[in-house]
Amino acid sequence: MTTEQNPRLSISQPIVGYKVVSAEVEPEPATEVKQDLEQVHENLTRPDFLMGSTYKIKTPMSEHALYITINDILLNQDTEHEQRHPYEIFINSKNMDHFMWVVALTRVISAVFRKGGDVTFMAEELKAVFDPKGGYFKKGGKFMPSLVAEIGEAIENHLKMIGLLQDESLDQHQQQILDEKRAEFERRAAEQKAPLDNSAVNDDNGGFPADAQICGKCNTKAAILMDGCYTCLNCGDSKCG
Ligand SMILES: [Zn+2]
Repeated sequence: MTTEQNPRLSISQPIVGYKVVSAEVEPEPATEVKQDLEQVHENLTRPDFLMGSTYKIKTPMSEHALYITINDILLNQDTEHEQRHPYEIFINSKNMDHFMWVVALTRVISAVFRKGGDVTFMAEELKAVFDPKGGYFKKGGKFMPSLVAEIGEAIENHLKMIGLLQDESLDQHQQQILDEKRAEFERRAAEQKAPLDNSAVNDDNGGFPADAQICGKCNTKAAILMDGCYTCLNCGDSKCG
């Protein structure tokens, strides 16, 4: 076989450069598709229909409950990128004490929701607000530093529900370790106390030992000291020394 018969083998011009051709190098269409994804931005017109969830909040600070409604816009419906994104928030209560501030807060939060992008920081910011008059303990022994923090928590729960925040609930194995720790703690406490003294467990405290301390991570009165280590029976946070 001569080179004239097979043109693929003949090189008639000087070689000035080369590149390695691989079958894997295919232009990725994925990036192009991504640009077409719907996203929340300021100029998005509000659809007539939005899905929402309402959260009821009852605090010892007021005899009336607070109702927080968060409505979501549905992006990329019926595609694999379908995602709910919070769009607006409303707060209702019979208690009108703080009405002006509550309305202002909901407007600002709604505006941030509608700006788009990552809105999960909002929950953190609100949860870090402390009432100078002092917070309160909720059922379950969780410390709530303010009403604003409570609103932040409702937003956080909502973001977890629609999948924008990861749910950090303990898995079965972690829960089992905590249950064992707790049983050991209660056994030791029972040895030290008179058998008729049943003050070790307090029901208002979510069933956590009454002398448990507030956990710095989850704000729940559930941290016990054992063998020189603090362990939170609620979230599993642990500190030694
Ligand atoms: Zn904790």
